[in-house]
Amino acid sequence: MGGSKENGTPLPSVPVNPRGDPVRDRGPRTMITVGDVGVAVLRDGGFSVDGGALFGVVPRFLWQQSDPPDEGNRVALALNVLLVETAGKRVLVDTGIGDRWAAKEIGLYKISRETTLLGSLAERGLGPEDVDVVVQTHLHFDHAGGSTRLVDGALRPTFPKARYVVQKGEWEDATRPHERNRASYRPDDFVPLAEAGQLDLVDGEAEVAPGVRVVPTGGHTRHHQIVVVDSGDGLLVPTDLLPTTSHLPLPYVMGYDLYPVGTLEAKRRLLAEAAERGSRILFYHDRRRPLGRVRRQGDRYLLEEGSAHGS
Ligand SMILES: [Zn+2]
Repeated sequence: MGGSKENGTPLPSVPVNPRGDPVRDRGPRTMITVGDVGVAVLRDGGFSVDGGALFGVVPRFLWQQSDPPDEGNRVALALNVLLVETAGKRVLVDTGIGDRWAAKEIGLYKISRETTLLGSLAERGLGPEDVDVVVQTHLHFDHAGGSTRLVDGALRPTFPKARYVVQKGEWEDATRPHERNRASYRPDDFVPLAEAGQLDLVDGEAEVAPGVRVVPTGGHTRHHQIVVVDSGDGLLVPTDLLPTTSHLPLPYVMGYDLYPVGTLEAKRRLLAEAAERGSRILFYHDRRRPLGRVRRQGDRYLLEEGSAHGS
């Protein structure tokens, strides 16, 4: 057992599959406590994207060592959904990529479903009706794909009792896309939320559950928002501002971002705050380290050594 200590609670070690990739959330896992709040990482499988798009202006020569691409220049990513339990409420931050994919797209994005969000919830004895709030950091398909599902041929919100928190500006952009962002949005992921009356549009910063805030940052999309858990040392969920631990260097900004300088500035603030406060960061797309802390060294931020679970 390679489990580490987290607030005195032993964590199980991370099993490894034959390809050497960590396989997470195969069984019930101990929740991590952040002050008064409990959190867990639920993995909704994975997918792959073009390495050039993933690392923006950074040359392949620099990123290929830490993130070796496949024969199609694709880099494998995880979909790490945060579950937060606070004051009797359950909050999910984004919903993964979901199951509504055709064979062509599964091949193009190498979508893998070895774990699913609903399966990971079920392993904890939770069903879709147990989720009270879903925060959408933005509405791209790899963040909102699991927000709806087909029930008897009709698209329905996956979480029937949840309100889905979306920035008003993100909703407007997603429902009126242009040529540059159209491929990232699938109306079936989010239009049914409005039709079911479960859409909760917010304009700016808002508390979505006790100790859980959304904060708009822009950058990746004009109205991209992050989640801040304000309890204990805190926990930040930057999703696509800081998708993996490989993106810790400030200039490592994704080519997908509509406002890359906005991402840079938001990242700079977020990393300074996380390092100063000792907050954990959830890395939504990281296959190896879904949770971690950072420390500052001059102008750089380094990942604290610790367990794969992010002590
Ligand atoms: Zn993403």
